Amino acid sequence: MSTKHAVRVVGVCGAVAEGKLLNRRTVPERGMILTGTVVVDSTTVIEDGAVVVDGSYIEAVGHRAELVDQYWDRERHSYDLLLPGFVGGHIHSVQSLGRGLADDTELLDWLFDYVLPMEASLSANELEVAAKLGYLELIESGTTTCIDHLSVAHADRAFEAAGELGIRGVLGKVLMDQRSPDALEEDTDRALAESERLIEAYHGAFDDRIRYAVTPRFAVSCSEQCLRGARELADTYDGVRIHTHASENRGEIETVESDTGLRNIHWLDEVGLTGEDVVLAHCVWTDESEREVLAETGTHVTHCPSSNMKLASGVAPIEDYLERGINVALGNDGAPCNNTLDPLTEMRQASLLQKVDQLEPTATPARTIFEMATRNGAKAAGFEHLGELQEGWRADIIGLSADQTRSVPMHDVFSHLVFAAHGDDVQFTMVDGNVLMEDGEVNVVDADEIRRRASEIGLRMDLEDERKAAHGQKP
Ligand SMILES: [Zn+2]
Repeated sequence: MSTKHAVRVVGVCGAVAEGKLLNRRTVPERGMILTGTVVVDSTTVIEDGAVVVDGSYIEAVGHRAELVDQYWDRERHSYDLLLPGFVGGHIHSVQSLGRGLADDTELLDWLFDYVLPMEASLSANELEVAAKLGYLELIESGTTTCIDHLSVAHADRAFEAAGELGIRGVLGKVLMDQRSPDALEEDTDRALAESERLIEAYHGAFDDRIRYAVTPRFAVSCSEQCLRGARELADTYDGVRIHTHASENRGEIETVESDTGLRNIHWLDEVGLTGEDVVLAHCVWTDESEREVLAETGTHVTHCPSSNMKLASGVAPIEDYLERGINVALGNDGAPCNNTLDPLTEMRQASLLQKVDQLEPTATPARTIFEMATRNGAKAAGFEHLGELQEGWRADIIGLSADQTRSVPMHDVFSHLVFAAHGDDVQFTMVDGNVLMEDGEVNVVDADEIRRRASEIGLRMDLEDERKAAHGQKP
């Protein structure tokens, strides 16, 4: 059954947007019952369980025999494993065309010689294709919510793409007003005014699946006025978050310290960029006093282990953060530094990295990692009742197959998910009660067409001129 209708949506801040649900296969009117092994959260698993969905919410969770009997008239689907959808706590959908473009380079070279020139070179149409490619990969591998760091220009196209594909997300246009390539550097007031326009247009759009984060690139590329302006903007609108990179690299923290006389987290705290509405990606290089600030202010941290390993940034002190009560989410970062947006691979990397760094095999066990990738991510994103399969919570649900040789035997579901499963195992993706992928086929867009256009644009990218223009801008 497919539906074609447009919905008018009033957002949490009163913003109004037109959300188009084109060709989206939604939950049938009589509702749906999903059966399989149900992973409710990081502590509870129901063997031979079921989840009943009604509209955008979960109506019931329990044992299959009872619920199938009670909800006999619902459309029924069966998957080996049913889980809450993953939350990508730090993603760059619009960098997807840079996959494989800048391997084996140092972070600031990677950023200034490759990634920023690539972002600057994207036309609006190309950026839309990049964003769609990113969201497609996320939906295919089980990420149902992303905290998405866009680019400076053409942000509308990414918001529209996220709305069209049906993913849940906290998206933000990037702010850069100093030490940036000419093509990306913006006047501070104009950049903040554009952010405000986007908040009015998209915060709460598409049935409130899409919300806004004010998104400075990082302290190096943003003036004090810009960072303070970001805080002011977030305070003006209910539910708007702040999302930025922080203390990823030693060169970055040295630059900030030389500019401001403060360690990076202290500087961000000074200008208002800490708190329960702030999500900081990475936080690899923090000292004791900075960690105290993160804990005291309730700031969220997103750990991106593959990116930190690939760019040799270092190892974030995740166990220490968790012990201090800091909420740590998990993210893939962007395709140029990962090069996959698969949340299951990322969970494996996260656990293995902590174990080898601490020479301690008990570090970050599978359940802890699973919680980071689901519930902790939902807390960072700021969506209530998200990240667990509980009655009355949002119907963001994924279904996995477990008929692969590497899935047998399955002594422990969490061990399987963190250490053996792959994104390809995901067969079913539901966001807000809408079925985006079923039996491994994404049904909200023409996935082949997106991949074809992305491949065409990716292959004709010639970054030589942009790279040359960017030289000399690097801090
Ligand atoms: Zn990033």
